[in-house]
Amino acid sequence: MYGYWGKVLRINLSKQSYQVEDVPEEVWKKFVGGSAFGAKMLLEETPPKVDPLSEENKIVFAIGIWQSAKNPGSGKWSVVTKSPLTKTFLDSSAGGNFGYDLKKAGYDAIIIEGKSPSPVKITINNKQVKIEDASSLWGKDAMETHNNFKASLDDKRYSIVYIGPAGEMGHPIACIGCDGHSVAGRGGAGAVMGSKNLKAIAILGSKEVPLYEPEKVKSRALELMREFTKRSAEKRKTGTTSAPATFEKVGNLPLKYWVGETWGLSEKISTPYYNEILHTKPTFCANCPYGCHRHIKLEEPVEYAVEGPGPEYETLGLMGGAFLCADLPAIAKANDICNRMGIDTISTGAWFSFLAECYEKKLINEKNTEGIAVNWGDGRVLVQLTEKIAKLEGIGAYFKEGIVGAAKRISPMAEDLIVHVKNLDYPAHDPRCHIAAGLNYATGTRGACHERADAQGFFYPELGMKGPATTMEEVPEYVVHQQNISSLANSLSVCKFILRVPKLSLTEILEILNAATGWNWTIQDLEKAGARGFLVERLINVRDGISRKDDILPKKMTVPAQSGPRKGRVPMPHDKALDEYYNLRKWNENGIPTQEALKEANLEEYLDFLP
Ligand code: SF4
Repeated sequence: MYGYWGKVLRINLSKQSYQVEDVPEEVWKKFVGGSAFGAKMLLEETPPKVDPLSEENKIVFAIGIWQSAKNPGSGKWSVVTKSPLTKTFLDSSAGGNFGYDLKKAGYDAIIIEGKSPSPVKITINNKQVKIEDASSLWGKDAMETHNNFKASLDDKRYSIVYIGPAGEMGHPIACIGCDGHSVAGRGGAGAVMGSKNLKAIAILGSKEVPLYEPEKVKSRALELMREFTKRSAEKRKTGTTSAPATFEKVGNLPLKYWVGETWGLSEKISTPYYNEILHTKPTFCANCPYGCHRHIKLEEPVEYAVEGPGPEYETLGLMGGAFLCADLPAIAKANDICNRMGIDTISTGAWFSFLAECYEKKLINEKNTEGIAVNWGDGRVLVQLTEKIAKLEGIGAYFKEGIVGAAKRISPMAEDLIVHVKNLDYPAHDPRCHIAAGLNYATGTRGACHERADAQGFFYPELGMKGPATTMEEVPEYVVHQQNISSLANSLSVCKFILRVPKLSLTEILEILNAATGWNWTIQDLEKAGARGFLVERLINVRDGISRKDDILPKKMTVPAQSGPRKGRVPMPHDKALDEYYNLRKWNENGIPTQEALKEANLEEYLDFLP
């Protein structure tokens, strides 16, 4: 076997034990690794409707072929589990060095199962695995956890994943941080780690996985790194922080919790202003030619002073655009609170923006908010509400079950306002601008996810795609291709920004995959592998009762803007697009995969999972 170790480290926290298991090449050929491998393990090893925070749920950290050499964007890794927020399949990916070090340590995946009776941390150094008491880290914020754990290790090159206090308390949007600057943000994987009393994992490796054509892989990786470093030079100055202003112009930026049409202040939260105010520099994951993350240093105003990871586009979109807040220091402070508590900034921004709309419509008042007037755009309110949401205190406690639970608690009218799919809040891309986003969010296997498909115009010529979908007739096929390739990227563990910015092509991915493994795959094989991973994720959801009724378009997305760049546009008719999407995927009219779909994907062994 080349490119993979064929080794999975299984750690049982109930027994405080571990073992290394062999996984044959056929499995990697079928599932590739990363998210799809995690989905396979979740489907096979957890019971239907498993309580995400129970001992029976599992967490899989997994990588693919991309970590077998210094390929551009190979710091990536995926965590796969059942989500405490959506109760669906969840995969979340992040950068840092963890993915690359996992491979160097001699594993393709780590499976965490059971529950420790008390807080623990895990240290992995090649074959050596230690499960140790972490009571001194328990209660520490995410950044302190990272720094203290790192300081206690005998080698500063360890990569570390960790949770903050939110993960410990079972917060539905708790994240898993990595190396002090990257985050597996969406869907609450941090709460699953916390439910197992697992505070952090440190990993370091020194091995090189055998490659089929080692010289070819290494020289190609080097060439691509050099070329992509040049191609990313301009974007490196801004990362994603130029996007609020650019996106407002085309109607992609969410405004006033998805009912605003124009704003005019997005430049105040974008570069060049962002760079001037927050004194930024780029941060890089392992083997990254781009460096999209921002490190910021803000000294004034003193109450908002912060040094560390800065807000990126999604955070700026939800905390800025959706809350109509141009107070960039306040957003930076709120972002820091989220980073330290360890919660998702996208859902946090969506939640307080929703509260502002409820306040404006008099569905809540100061009695609900402990005296806070939730006025749009007020930076002090933004910080106050972020703290309450992070701690699930006061009005923040309304969100213990996510946005759907909060809306139910407030009023039936509030239920009409929320913008989510499967309880995952929309990210900062409006489907009335990029119409393919509506169907993609609706059918996303972890809910409304912009990382399940790029709906903004990026496309893959090798698949015969000629450009972005501009009519609803074109949307279903476009979304199927996009979701398949996103699933592939999450399984090979390639950073998707490297596909979009320096434009790593499918042809280049294929070339490295074949040289690393000796598989002789085609472009069609690549897409088929991506489609297979996506199908397994859907099977997990279908087994738990997900169907067409859950593949929704929120009410606000059916209302066209009266003015501004998205005037008159809606991603409709949604039902017709959904019919065609199911048809292309060979799912029935209720969104259930057919036997034919499973057989075509060589997944006959999963026929019994069909309802
Ligand atoms: S582009 Fe960004 S997320 Fe991707 S590997 Fe580089 S720094 Fe990490």
